Amino acid sequence: MYRTKTCGELRIENVGEVVTLAGWVQRSRKMGGMTFIDLRDRYGITQLVFNQETDAPLCDRANKLGREYVIQVKGSVSERFSKNDKMPTGDIEIIVSELNVLNEALTPPFTIEEQTDGGDDLRMKYRYLDLRRECVRQNLELRHKFCIETRSFLDSLGFLEIETPVLVGSTPEGARDFIVPSRMNPGQFYALPQSPQTLKQLLMVAGMDKYFQIVKCFRDEDLRADRQPEFTQIDCEMSFVEQDDVIKTFEALTKHLFKTVRGIDLGEEPFLRMPWSEAMRRFGSDKPDMRFGMEFVELMDVLKGTGEFGVFNSAAYIGGICAKGCASYTRKQLDELTNFVKSPQIGAKGLVYARIQDDGTVKSSVDKFYTPEVLLRLKTAMQAEPGDLILIISGEEANRARKQLCELRLLMGSRLGLRDKNKFALLWVVDFPMFEWSDEEQRLMAMHHPFTSPKPEDIPLLDTDPAKVCANAYDMVCNGVEVGGGSIRIHDAVLQAKIFKILGFTPEKAQEQFGFLMNAFKYGAPPHGGLAYGLDRFVSLFAGLDSIRDCIAFPKNNSGRDVMLDAPSAVDKKQLDELQIALALRNQ
Ligand code: ASP
Repeated sequence: MYRTKTCGELRIENVGEVVTLAGWVQRSRKMGGMTFIDLRDRYGITQLVFNQETDAPLCDRANKLGREYVIQVKGSVSERFSKNDKMPTGDIEIIVSELNVLNEALTPPFTIEEQTDGGDDLRMKYRYLDLRRECVRQNLELRHKFCIETRSFLDSLGFLEIETPVLVGSTPEGARDFIVPSRMNPGQFYALPQSPQTLKQLLMVAGMDKYFQIVKCFRDEDLRADRQPEFTQIDCEMSFVEQDDVIKTFEALTKHLFKTVRGIDLGEEPFLRMPWSEAMRRFGSDKPDMRFGMEFVELMDVLKGTGEFGVFNSAAYIGGICAKGCASYTRKQLDELTNFVKSPQIGAKGLVYARIQDDGTVKSSVDKFYTPEVLLRLKTAMQAEPGDLILIISGEEANRARKQLCELRLLMGSRLGLRDKNKFALLWVVDFPMFEWSDEEQRLMAMHHPFTSPKPEDIPLLDTDPAKVCANAYDMVCNGVEVGGGSIRIHDAVLQAKIFKILGFTPEKAQEQFGFLMNAFKYGAPPHGGLAYGLDRFVSLFAGLDSIRDCIAFPKNNSGRDVMLDAPSAVDKKQLDELQIALALRNQ
């Protein structure tokens, strides 16, 4: 037996027992004739003691142990003279009688401690060492618990966990596919699934009734802090359901997860449901962070055409937020805010501000264009009080300007400490538009995906004004993050063909790409709907992380590389030959 106990379980009650432990040398200290070693494994840290006086040869060997050596020790559990109440095992130590070095270790390239000196790249290159750090390991433990609780909850409701293939055909869901060449079918390629969307729908046609899967999805997109080229979904689908059924089921799952994984009771109240148009109007976002207010106030009536400010006079949208108590912001702080909204990522033309002074008068950056009366109307419209700072964004395209104001709102929310990571605000955003116009593609695109059903009452609009059609789609939002999304699906071949047509598919192309689905719908498809959670995002919210990377064992970096495996990489010519692929790389 390598060990009789782990490094995390011994307590004062165990004093006197003889135990064998195995683990890694976290740290060693020499004090007088004693050597103390912290021995670490997944479960915790236990202090080992070697005494020069009682066993000099053993103590000499202990003094030679380096950081991260793997050792096995036998010894008796003894009560500590100076206890450490910060460690669960802090009441005891092991008086070691036998030491066995199982493996030596090179000095690790960074310290394996809570606060490490390793930068991101180094930690990712040696991720297996990084994962030895308790704070990183805890994220994986949380993720495990999240998955187990999801499985048991969905199982209790009769969901079946069914695997779907990873080598599939391309079913675009708005992102680029990763493709895999087929040796047995030269010149042909599989695509890795962007999600199991069509397959889970086929499982409904197959009568599976309730499906779920914790599944990898692959999207070849530009990466950001909350995106990875491969990520995990909790993917679900149900038959004979309406939107309300799906929402209720997954609201219950979410409450269960908060309770069992985070110990947070979200109460009996259903989550707020907010139509997309309201979310855009009040917060400029389809995933509003509802931990704080600072709602938008539309100021078109107040500021457009009521003064000489040309920017406002030609705007399609003017909106403001009121930052409580920020009237004392310095010129420099205001310049910072202006630079933020004008940065290329945000793209606003500028920022107008107005301070409410102690005497109630308004001092703004556009004073010369407006009379004091107009500025007082602005103050009233914003319900601003002395000490407040009004920040205003305008634009010629309303939703774009709203999104810019949304970024500013989030920044001010963070600055004012209103975005506490231990507070959770959940809601459903519903009634999404079915389509959105893409300037790049010059066509309507599915806002969710092409299999989403329109609201039944809007079906006639498909022929006359498709841009006005509302979808039977819903997103679950937590703290400004879209943690899940889904829809009631189309289950009728004719309606599905019509949607493909609106999306710009010729009947031939639609048949070629989605014929399998439309055919299946001809064989008795039940009404169905579902949703998928982004597991990585949800877990990172639970763990209070800024990036999803830290809850993934082996994540990729921002250029999609696994720096530990050094992937992607070139392959042998022989492999390419077998695939009958010749490389013609440009710019090389
Ligand atoms: N397949 C969708 C997605 O990945 C989720 C769904 O509609 O169930 O976003």
